[in-house]
Amino acid sequence: MDECIFCKIVKGDIPSAKVYEDERTFAFDDIQPMAPVHVLIVPKGHVETVMDLAEDDDLAKDLLTAAQKVARIKKVDRSGFRLVVNCGSDGGQIVSHLHLHLLGGKKLADEMG
Ligand code: 5GP
Ligand code: ZN
Repeated sequence: MDECIFCKIVKGDIPSAKVYEDERTFAFDDIQPMAPVHVLIVPKGHVETVMDLAEDDDLAKDLLTAAQKVARIKKVDRSGFRLVVNCGSDGGQIVSHLHLHLLGGKKLADEMG
């Protein structure tokens, strides 16, 4: 997707603070962090929302495995963290390229929505 900002970040056309990368995933610090640790984990290929994940693809697992690695890199694997995936307009998804928010580094608020 030519116009997608997260595709541009994956390609390096828009700079980002990279945290982790493997064959299928890319992780970088959120530009407007909502917690001391706030990392976005995205598939390298353009997938719009969680509803567009194919059943016969391991991408969901790959994203979760990347999240585990990010948690260790950011040293929140023991203290804990939250993974959030916004989907569509009610879910508050602003960027239409699937991403996991990994939030941690403080005691997060109890409310979920
Ligand atoms: P959403 O609301 O779509 O789930 O979250 C999109 C996230 O992307 C927001 O937390 C926002 O701060 C982040 N974001 C938007 N544009 C950029 C950017 O150019 N660079 C980085 N690092 N994060 C971005
Ligand atoms: Zn994209």
